[in-house]
This record gives sequence, C-alpha cells and structure tokens, in this order.
Amino acid sequence: MAKKPAYAASRKDYKKNAAVRTGLISWFRENGRDLPWRRTRDPWRILVSEVMLQQIQVARAIPFYERFVRSFPTVGALAEAPLAEAIRVWDDLGRYRRVVNLHRTARIVVEEHGGRIPADPEVLVTLPGVGPYTAGAVACFAFERDVSFFDTNMHRVLHRVYFGPEVPEPAAKPKELLALAAGLVPAGEGWTWNQAVMEFGALQCTARNPRCDGCPVAGHCRAHPVMPEALAAITRATKGEPGRRYEDSNRYLRGRVLAQLRDTGPDGGLELREIWDGLRRGGVDVEASRLWAAVRSLEDDGLARTAPAGDPGAGPPAPRPAEAAAEERAAYGAEDGDLARVRVALP
Ligand code: SF4
Repeated sequence: MAKKPAYAASRKDYKKNAAVRTGLISWFRENGRDLPWRRTRDPWRILVSEVMLQQIQVARAIPFYERFVRSFPTVGALAEAPLAEAIRVWDDLGRYRRVVNLHRTARIVVEEHGGRIPADPEVLVTLPGVGPYTAGAVACFAFERDVSFFDTNMHRVLHRVYFGPEVPEPAAKPKELLALAAGLVPAGEGWTWNQAVMEFGALQCTARNPRCDGCPVAGHCRAHPVMPEALAAITRATKGEPGRRYEDSNRYLRGRVLAQLRDTGPDGGLELREIWDGLRRGGVDVEASRLWAAVRSLEDDGLARTAPAGDPGAGPPAPRPAEAAAEERAAYGAEDGDLARVRVALP
C-alpha cells in the first residue's frame, strides 16, 4: 500500500490553494521587483545569483552580481580563470567558501557536462555548494521546471498561511512543508509561483514586521488572527539579549584578511606580520593567535595558501623598524618569530 504523504490536500484545501495561488501571483505581478536575474533564463547567471543571494540582501548583492557576470559571462570563463582571480572579483561580498565552490562547480560543469549547466535538480545537487534549494531554484528559474523548493522566506509564508505562526516554535516539520509546497506549484506557472512566494516573504510577509493589513491572502491565513501576539512574545523574549558585534566575528576578520590579499596583485602575498600591521592600521586590533587561526581556516577552505618563513619563493623579508619588530615579538612570542614571517597569498 502506498505510504500516506505527510501533507495531503483535503477537498476544502483545493479552494484555499486556488485562492492563495491567485492572490500571491496577482500580488507579484503588481509588486515584484525588477531584478537583473529575473530578466534572464541563462542558467549560469541564475546559478551565480542564487549562490550569492543566500542570506545576503538583494540590494547589496546586485553590484557584486553584475561585476561577477561581467567578468565571467559564461561558466567556461570562470572555469578557465585561476581561483585567485575569482576571489578578487567576488570582492567584499563575504561568504567566501561560496566562490571556491562556484569555481569548482564551473570546472565540473565544463569537464563532465560539456559546459552546460544541468537542468535536473537531482544532478544539480551533486555540484559543490549546490543544496536542494539552489538546485530547485536553478531548475525552476532557468529551465522553467515546475519544481518546488524553499528558502527561509518561502518557508515562513507557507508555514503562516497553512499552519499558523512559525514562532516561537514551528508547528510543521520541514517534510510536511515540502509536501505542501510540492502540491501548490501550478502546472506551467512554476517560475511565477516560486518567484511570487519568495518575493512576498521578502517584502510583505516579513519575519518581524508582516503587513497583514491589506494582505491579499489574509482571509486564508491561519496565522493572521494571532500574528501580533506571536510577534510580541518574540520581541519580549529577545529584549535585552546582548548582541554580538559583527566586527568581533571571525567572519569579519576573514573578510579583512582576504581584502588585504586581494590588494597584493596577481603574484603577491603578505607576511603574517604585514597582515597584522595592516589590520591594526585599519582599526582592527586582533590577537596574533586569532589572526593565525583565521588564516588557517581560510587555507582549510581553499581561500588562501601559506608558505613557511624562509621559503625560497617567498622573497626577502621587508626591513622592519626596531619598534615594530619589538611589538611583533611581544605579540607572537619570541618562539613564534617564524610564524610572523609565514607568507600568506590567495590560492
Ligand atoms: S496575513 Fe500576515 S502572516 Fe498571513 S500571509 Fe498575510 S502578511 Fe503573512
């Protein structure tokens, strides 16, 4: 006997589903933003945009996206480029492991798929850095396949409409939402539907400030009657919690180190102590041990390479003022003098 799905639409749901589809698609036609990746079906551009956009604001991503696809207009162009060049063009966007994976993906697509981005989500998901969301998005937004997938915005919208508020705890399991999402994609309109749900979550049904007044699906939304109380409870619970400054995070430090390496030119590289000096000049006061840990993590992620002090390819050390040398010894410890001269470069 066939296994019962986690979510099965009842007869009553058909009416609701039809109303939700119509409501969100009409809303999108009126309110959807004109974004560069919505004007194309080029699978390469769609893939780049989806990789860049995860957890990054649309407005911030646009100039980086435009520069990246201008520099690498095809998957083959990125595959041919050295990884260091890709990292330079990725610039200050952050989440640097993504560019390493994108570069690996480009080479695999050229070597194993004849330079054509696959259309099948099951194949896409085997590429480095491509998860179920990105695979579904590329299949849908580039190849117009009627597939379902969801990001946090889509998850939030569907959860609220069908199960109620997702806070403080989601009422539905991801499996149930996936089954629901699969049943909602209208035949032949997967592109518009998925764009509509994403955009609705980004602009109207936002995490902290949903605009329930004037919402086109309010009459069908299970969360609508209780949304204000649910959000107020969250605000009370998080009030007074100390926030961590982004400038104190490892992600920020890794970004600052990469920014210095990008500025050293194609064959450049810097000694660890030079990076440390550069950070301090830029107002980032960091312990040497933390800097070394950040450099090692960049190396582990394929974003940097290091050469030991005295490496014949590293060139002569730059002359150091006595004061700076004393400070450096204090920071690294006398026994770590060699560490300060480790040379770090883009891969
Ligand atoms: S009524 Fe509010 S919570 Fe429900 S879908 Fe509309 S904006 Fe979201």
